[in-house]
Amino acid sequence: MRTLVVGAGTTGTFLAYCLAVRGVPVVLAERRTLGNAGARWINGVERDLLTSLQLPEAPSGLVFHDGGRFILSTPDGAHRVTVAEPPQVELDMRVLGQWLLDLARDAGAQVRERTRVDIGPADGGSREVSLNGRAERFDVVLDARGYHDGTLRELPEEDRLPFTPVLDVCAAHQGVYRVRDADAARAWLAENGIFPGDTWCRSGVEGGYSVLNCCLDHDGDRIAVLTGSMWRDAYRPGGTIAGDFVRRHAFIGKRLFGGGRLIPLAPPTGSLVEDHLVRVGDAAGQVFPLHGSGIAQGMRAADLAANAVAAALQIGDTTARGLWGYNVAWQRNTGALDAFHQPLRQLSSSLTTDENRVLLAHGLLGPSTVEASLAQRLPSLDPGALLGAAMGLGEVLPLVPRLAAAARLARAMHSHWRGFPGRGPKGEYVSWLARARSLTEKSQALALSGDGDGSLPFGTGDGVAGSSAP
Ligand SMILES: Cc1cc2nc3c(=O)[nH]c(=O)nc-3n(C[C@H](O)[C@H](O)[C@H](O)COP(=O)(O)OP(=O)(O)OC[C@H]3O[C@@H](n4cnc5c(N)ncnc54)[C@H](O)[C@@H]3O)c2cc1C
Repeated sequence: MRTLVVGAGTTGTFLAYCLAVRGVPVVLAERRTLGNAGARWINGVERDLLTSLQLPEAPSGLVFHDGGRFILSTPDGAHRVTVAEPPQVELDMRVLGQWLLDLARDAGAQVRERTRVDIGPADGGSREVSLNGRAERFDVVLDARGYHDGTLRELPEEDRLPFTPVLDVCAAHQGVYRVRDADAARAWLAENGIFPGDTWCRSGVEGGYSVLNCCLDHDGDRIAVLTGSMWRDAYRPGGTIAGDFVRRHAFIGKRLFGGGRLIPLAPPTGSLVEDHLVRVGDAAGQVFPLHGSGIAQGMRAADLAANAVAAALQIGDTTARGLWGYNVAWQRNTGALDAFHQPLRQLSSSLTTDENRVLLAHGLLGPSTVEASLAQRLPSLDPGALLGAAMGLGEVLPLVPRLAAAARLARAMHSHWRGFPGRGPKGEYVSWLARARSLTEKSQALALSGDGDGSLPFGTGDGVAGSSAP
């Protein structure tokens, strides 16, 4: 009875811990050195994440930043929405990674670094893998390799959902920089109505679905800069946006740490399991679509996956059928939440900088919507939205057909994922997947809906009506 977790990012390391504490023998293999595995920057997560996962007391230095307001604005800062008490804290991922690794080792996980794993076929009741070229077999292999070159190529044809990198991947960068001149930094923020400790998120810097987000710490010593964009037209990727921002502000000094890479914003498959194989974290596209946050989702998925693997090993069935409980637990809950947000995310990537401004200026994106997004919850209509929309009717009206279509599709996708079949991979799952594909195609089409004459790429009643509201 052996399991292998591939990849020692946050998801894989926590997964190895979850399996080990359930008494499941586990090997955790990472192709890099452990000090270079996974995210090495600052990530915002829900404040109660670690306690909700029942982890022991966190080490000092884990929380990089807590407090301050979250301000979402147009690129020039003229229109803004303020969340006074954001439901997030910023964690230093280097500290989180080391802590999870210590916990996993203490619980009994075997850890191997500089070990590249290639996942082979299922055969004879187990899964074949190669570890640095040496063949081995495991009862269950858990793929936590993040989003990588082979992600799409390796997926089984029969489980695929439409996934197109230009529409479904964000290029992000995060860096923490030394501040050369704290007074100049404070003065620049004050000119923009921002205090040290606030997170200022400028949306639409390149057009729809692009951000430049900065936070000066309370002491004025360091500034955290997060940037990201889709691969559209002339959009610059996150690293280039960050480099340009730093060059234009002389008070920012050298980068202390950080990094960047691609974030998958959608699940590339309908099923998270195959025979003797489980996908978790970025490898499974378990990322909140509106802002590409994958830490909480990857850790929660790891917890669910460990439950399902422990149960499957106990009954002696680690085929897709035996592991299906993980699929159900994920898809009907967080999977449905993410599915709801896919059309909204695709629509947001189709917006021009000016259309983004209209949403902020007329209250269609208000504090409760922004707070729900930060907390990764379903949104409720902002009280000011209807009034704001009425006041700015001339500007809002051209956007209404696309907004309405995205909202209807969001409800349809949410209710479809809520109804994920209890058994698979045959039977009802096959028809569930066919409908999931068709809804996902419509959602992708929304991303292109702003490029032409503004008309919708499908009829508003075209297979998305009649779904029950979440
Ligand atoms: C700039 C940036 C900012 C972000 N900000 C936030 C945020 O504020 N909040 C948030 O929640 N999320 C954020 N995210 C997303 C978050 O960082 C990711 O969702 C998360 O790190 C994914 O973790 P993972 O363990 O699933 O994958 P990864 O971190 O990608 O880890 C995968 C690991 O697998 C290893 N690996 C790959 N292939 C192999 C192989 N063949 N054999 C062995 N090992 C292999 C890799 O070396 C890597 O260490 C951000 C992402 C970026 C890029």
